[in-house]
Amino acid sequence: MGPVLTNIRDLDEVKFVDLAVGMGEKAFRGRQLFEWVHAKRVNDYEEMSNLPAKLRESLREEYGAVDPLRVVKKQEAQDGSTAKYLFELSDGNTIESVWMRYRHGDSVCVSSQVGCRMGCRFCASTLGGLVRNLTPGEMLSQVYDIEREQYPKDTDGHIGSIIVMGMGEPFDNYENLIRFIRLLTDEKGRNLSARSVTVSTCGIPDGIRRLAKEGLPVTLALSLHAPDDETRKRIMPIAKAHPMEEVLEACRDYFSETGRRVSLEYSMIRDVNDDEKAAEKLAERCVKLQKSGMPVHINLIPLNEVSETGWERTGTERIQQFKKILEKNRINVTIRREMGSEIDAACGQLRRKTQIK
Ligand code: SAH
Repeated sequence: MGPVLTNIRDLDEVKFVDLAVGMGEKAFRGRQLFEWVHAKRVNDYEEMSNLPAKLRESLREEYGAVDPLRVVKKQEAQDGSTAKYLFELSDGNTIESVWMRYRHGDSVCVSSQVGCRMGCRFCASTLGGLVRNLTPGEMLSQVYDIEREQYPKDTDGHIGSIIVMGMGEPFDNYENLIRFIRLLTDEKGRNLSARSVTVSTCGIPDGIRRLAKEGLPVTLALSLHAPDDETRKRIMPIAKAHPMEEVLEACRDYFSETGRRVSLEYSMIRDVNDDEKAAEKLAERCVKLQKSGMPVHINLIPLNEVSETGWERTGTERIQQFKKILEKNRINVTIRREMGSEIDAACGQLRRKTQIK
């Protein structure tokens, strides 16, 4: 992995103060800078009107553009419910983010890495392996830039929640993930509530336990995708390193530490994890979890087919049957609203297509 330059949006208030002082300015200049970058979220040093021209010039020289991203492609669903963005980073790599309109508030799905090294069999993001981690500023910029683009006027609304479910495994880029969430939820910055942030993991117990101790009440989503280890190993290589029991134990700890419900993601793959037996087994596991005091919520996701994998999605009827079996066992279950399959919204699909062309 090559070196990644620090972007000005990577910095928190303490670092801005250090920076200002290091450039021979007073500390309050650092606080002003923080406000321009993370509260007012301007895209150009010129707009930082109360800063001395000399400081703005030095910043530009040292850090380059305020915004480390450039929109190279935007695909919108016809009904206006979803927009997928392909961004170029300053080193030429590309990442994807998705904006989604929900009744209870709009949401952005953020990428945490360029590519991924987890190797899940059905996922497009991992096909080319991991290229590099994203910096906190590169994660934040997905939110800042999409917000600016979707709501050109202040009165248009804003993003209500963030899900870290784009390309990459967030716990494989742990430090930057936490710095991103702290900046996003900084009261003096974008000031999003940590409760409106969801982090999705393929199941890394150390990461889950570390996050539980951060004092950030974010929602955790676990990509479970199988009712037992045998099936899970066919789908996700990480299951070979961490058996389901160990991962679910970490989720239980997460719940007891934070009081936040953990959501279990289950992508439905035809003839792999979608028959009645799988549903019964999953229900049994969930009942056990609930008896041990952990509330369970299952989110069924119809597979977004990625041609390279050869795997197909489960039909609507079978998804309904699967859901019924869980409900019969009093498990809280939802089917993820189909979003963006027409615009290649499964993570990594759009990036992959533009690379192949
Ligand atoms: N690495 C993290 C977050 C990124 S993936 C994780 O594994 O959770 C976000 C979610 O989408 C995960 O549940 C992932 O398993 C699922 N996913 C990825 N590709 C998919 C596809 N083609 N169809 C359906 N779900 C997919």
